[in-house]
Amino acid sequence: MSNIDVAVGLERREYFSIIRKVLLDINGSFQGLNVTEKIPCVCSECKGRETPYFFDYEYLRKRMHKEKLTVDCERSVEEVAINELLSGIETPAMEPFESWDVLTL
Ligand SMILES: [Zn+2]
Repeated sequence: MSNIDVAVGLERREYFSIIRKVLLDINGSFQGLNVTEKIPCVCSECKGRETPYFFDYEYLRKRMHKEKLTVDCERSVEEVAINELLSGIETPAMEPFESWDVLTL
């Protein structure tokens, strides 16, 4: 089985949804390809770093669905708003949870 890790820098967050779509299309074409999506942390320690802590995208989604609004950075142990992490990646920060499923590719 092959793995592809995708990391998108803070300045390129807006492209993440496009990259997602392409990767998920590829994933659909090649059986057994395992796509892992990671979101860079935006806490005060990670912000602007070349190697921030990366959150697992599915884990962030799961937390949102459990109505947990924050997640702890494992590097700084700071609480980070999940909305802020996903801002520009999937949905505007102030949209209600209900819209998340609609945007799933
Ligand atoms: Zn962090």
